[in-house]
Amino acid sequence: MFQLDGRTALVTGASRGIGEAVARRLAAQGARVILAARTEDRLQELAGELTGAGAETRVLPLDLALPEEVPAALASLPEEWREVDVLVNNAGITADNLLARLSLEDWQKVLTTNLTGAFAVTKEVIRGMMRRRWGRIISISSVVGLMGNPGQANYAASKAGLVGFSKSLARELGSRNITVNVVAPGYIETAMTEDLPEESQKALKGSIPLRRLGSVDDVAWCVLFLASDEAGYITGHTLNVSGGLYI
Ligand code: NDP
Repeated sequence: MFQLDGRTALVTGASRGIGEAVARRLAAQGARVILAARTEDRLQELAGELTGAGAETRVLPLDLALPEEVPAALASLPEEWREVDVLVNNAGITADNLLARLSLEDWQKVLTTNLTGAFAVTKEVIRGMMRRRWGRIISISSVVGLMGNPGQANYAASKAGLVGFSKSLARELGSRNITVNVVAPGYIETAMTEDLPEESQKALKGSIPLRRLGSVDDVAWCVLFLASDEAGYITGHTLNVSGGLYI
């Protein structure tokens, strides 16, 4: 079950955190994985490790803050790596502030990286998926995009944008056997949440019905499921992985 042998997956933001866990999971299930992010040496390190474990990988240095450069970056892949079957739009940033203090620059930076970046990569890979009549597009949103959060208007807008983007694409691409879904994590243990003071962590856990933060693997398993043949009749869906934070 959930095997991805013969599939090529592209994971953005694969250099750490959730993206790294997703790349590891997809590779473990047999996918060839393109690892994309800005930090090339970290990607090379991960690629070395995965290759050592028997996976096929390729590193793709990519800055989604410059979406106009995405077509050339993808075109730089060797031909046998250009046919992407599974795209995971995971890369994302925050630049938090209350709206009154939020600069246009921080608004644009977050919207560009999180939403326009996903648009740019998706646009490049769908032609091949349409031709092959098989594809999986999975974007990592956030429960914040569904619930809102004070101080994160830019981030929430970008994450809600991914939901509308995906629902529209699900309708556009369904007839070509391409599914388009969203995974919306709640609070996941990564560098981002590690820095929270103990008191805040405690309060946070108290607000989650399952009383714990999620792990990167909790998210990676959901991405794997949506990427698999077994999830072939699910499209336009948003899967919350939040321990019940958002119900
Ligand atoms: P991290 O900050 O740990 O990782 C973010 C990843 O995105 C890194 O690999 C980073 O790589 C990449 N990235 C950032 N900016 C760019 C850019 N301009 N171009 C290309 N890649 C970029 O985040 P998480 O793993 O925690 O989060 C991953 C996704 O999950 C994000 O979209 C986030 O919004 C979402 N999420 C996270 C939650 C959490 O609790 N952690 C909760 C809900 C959603 P590099 O710096 O090398 O470019």
